[in-house]
Amino acid sequence: MRKVLIANRGEIALRVICACKELGLQTVAVYSEADRYSLHVRFADEAVCIGPAKSALSYLNIPAVISAAEITNVDAIHPGYGFLSENADFAEVCQASGIRFIGPRPEVIRLMGLKERAREEMKRLGVAILPGSEGILKHAAEAQEVAARIGYPMILKASAGGGGRGMRVVRDAADLAGQFTQAQNEAQAACACGDLYSEKYIERARHIEFQVLGDEHGEIEILGERECSVQRRHQKLIEEAPSPVMTPKLRKRASGALKKALKAIGYTNAGTVEFILDEDGNLYFIEVNARIQVEHPVTEAVTGVDLVKAQLRIAMGQKLHEILGGPVEMRGHAIECRINAEDPFNNFQPSPGRIEFLHVPGGHGVRVDTHVYGGYVIPPHYDSMIAKLICYGSDRRVALDRMARALDELIIRGIKTTIPLHKLTLKDPNFRRGRYSTNFVDRLLAASQPLVPPKAQELTPAPAGAPEKIEGV
Ligand code: ADP
Repeated sequence: MRKVLIANRGEIALRVICACKELGLQTVAVYSEADRYSLHVRFADEAVCIGPAKSALSYLNIPAVISAAEITNVDAIHPGYGFLSENADFAEVCQASGIRFIGPRPEVIRLMGLKERAREEMKRLGVAILPGSEGILKHAAEAQEVAARIGYPMILKASAGGGGRGMRVVRDAADLAGQFTQAQNEAQAACACGDLYSEKYIERARHIEFQVLGDEHGEIEILGERECSVQRRHQKLIEEAPSPVMTPKLRKRASGALKKALKAIGYTNAGTVEFILDEDGNLYFIEVNARIQVEHPVTEAVTGVDLVKAQLRIAMGQKLHEILGGPVEMRGHAIECRINAEDPFNNFQPSPGRIEFLHVPGGHGVRVDTHVYGGYVIPPHYDSMIAKLICYGSDRRVALDRMARALDELIIRGIKTTIPLHKLTLKDPNFRRGRYSTNFVDRLLAASQPLVPPKAQELTPAPAGAPEKIEGV
């Protein structure tokens, strides 16, 4: 492997370019017209414009990406996360064009992409799943039958879903038919497939996921877990490794079962297996993300493994034990805060626009993955995540204290961001104690809203000549 095209944008495109450069690989960036001034375009060895701002016409446009790969004569494509990363057809087209797709085999991506089928497959292979429907629900009456069996609350999910779309929690039989239609419509609009399934909805759940790597010689390694229960609208905001509630016994048992199941599936390259942990300490499989995750840096921090380099080396045919150089253990603690261009105190409204000023923290144990810079204009067309702040420490307290310090030093002026919410979280006694579940953000916002008057800055104008008040500081 000599030259890699990165079929993505934003921070993950830069992250992949870093890994390629350190392995001596040439890089090709692709970009939409809206991303002409993005750093991934500047830092790659070559760059090809693949279409207009709209993702469907650029980053999701398979013929355009493949043409760029052919023109630049690359050997492989790294898809990052999102966009084409879990598109089995794309992986197949790469293969047929003689280009290595850096990810699992197309048939594995296809199986994992149908969440309902992945659920059945994992059950068959001995991994616990939540009680729920068997197969796709044809209509609301079928969902009613499942509810009669498993009870309320129940969650309806899009089989082809992702990013929290097409998901509805149903608490009452009277709401089921309406919620079913809404979930179906949303799934059809977002995923071009209205297929739904359902499972028991766990109150006060924790989201725990395991990082996996598989080589092309049948070896699988589980690199510990991440806790991702701080979420908004079923999407992650803060991730930690290890989970504050994981026990060595449960970790060992889950890792063993997963290793066996993934071997049987023939899983290769990087992936994440997601679980729900209930209050009684039971782990239930929910889905596999057959790609690198946004939150991979917390695992990198505690294991010392560069996961993107590992992906590239696996695709080169190297053996996992050579890449990892021995058994992998988690040491210390890492936490990541997603910095999104959105207003956490106004229903997470997106806040694109120009970054007037940016100051990025540093120092021991601090990592910032970002594609933005002072003067950068955030386009309104894509995901709102503009940076990831990752802090590492010898234990959870050290990591959290470091994160609180780094958040104070991260200054982004000109747009609204999730920084003030992260600061509140880091001060919350329950979060500090590791006592939280997926409803944490809703509760925190409900409790803190009166304390955060949205117009606070205007109420206290700075005296003339004083430094300007900075958002969230
Ligand atoms: P997506 O692929 O859209 O991200 P997931 O199946 O990964 O959907 O679920 C996203 C989030 O929704 C989880 O992290 C969790 O917060 C919540 N969730 C999903 N299934 C359940 C469940 N059965 N019980 C409780 N919460 C759930």
